[in-house]
Amino acid sequence: MIRIRGLSKRYGDFDALQGIDLDVAPGEFLVVLGPSGAGKSTLLRCINRLCEPSQGEIHIDGRRVSSDAGSLRSVRRQVAMIFQHYNVVPRLSVRKNVLTGRLGTMPSLLSWLQIFPRKDVDIAQECLRRVELAEKAELRTDTLSGGQKQRVGIARALAQQPKIILADEPVASLDPKTSRTVLRYLKQASQELGITVICNLHQIDYAREFGERIVGVSGGRIVFEGGPQGLTDEV
Ligand code: ADP
Ligand code: ADP
Repeated sequence: MIRIRGLSKRYGDFDALQGIDLDVAPGEFLVVLGPSGAGKSTLLRCINRLCEPSQGEIHIDGRRVSSDAGSLRSVRRQVAMIFQHYNVVPRLSVRKNVLTGRLGTMPSLLSWLQIFPRKDVDIAQECLRRVELAEKAELRTDTLSGGQKQRVGIARALAQQPKIILADEPVASLDPKTSRTVLRYLKQASQELGITVICNLHQIDYAREFGERIVGVSGGRIVFEGGPQGLTDEV
């Protein structure tokens, strides 16, 4: 599904990623674990081309990701992002926020006018049901708690009907109980819908609890790869 070879990223004379080789299987739930500054975010941003690699290649479904318009469009269509700070629009309703996940799939005029066909509204509602927020659809998103906002972020990503979800520290701003709820919904996306999920985390406890395969990153390199049972506190 995702094949990464020799990926490096330099910011000025600082190496944020150095020679990353990584394969991610279809439907896998992969945890990328590492401290702040390890390069986790840069890795995700290289996959969806929010950031241009300095070296190396990334293939998604056998197609090389590049910065030309066609490749970018295809990547943005297939890859959804979930962010630490949710990136929801506070003044919009929960439903409208989830519908923004549909914009890329709609004819450009409708998308420009933000007129949503019934089918898209139904998809949005189904995605909200998955994260158990269907009854909050009409509420303004800024009335929700942090955990609920992140569940809206997950529903928006699901509404995009992506092949891949990249979650960049999705629970870094949440308390432990809420974090576990959010990670459970993310894991369900891979288990029930077959979506390939890469989830960046810096807490070893959550990696142990939710990770099936864990890749430890430190100083821009992969320093560990394996199951949760192989995880020592040194990672
Ligand atoms: P993580 O997600 O693991 O916290 P990042 O990928 O965000 O790590 O950052 C890795 C390193 O690259 C950090 O030292 C960070 O300061 C640096 N970095 C990230 N983005 C930029 C940028 N746009 N310009 C310069 N340095 C950056
Ligand atoms: P808003 O501006 O309404 O907060 P975003 O731009 O954060 O919305 O996201 C809208 C939709 O596009 C979401 O489904 C999100 O997952 C997706 N998305 C945003 N940025 C990217 C990206 N770089 N690659 C792939 N999908 C993205």
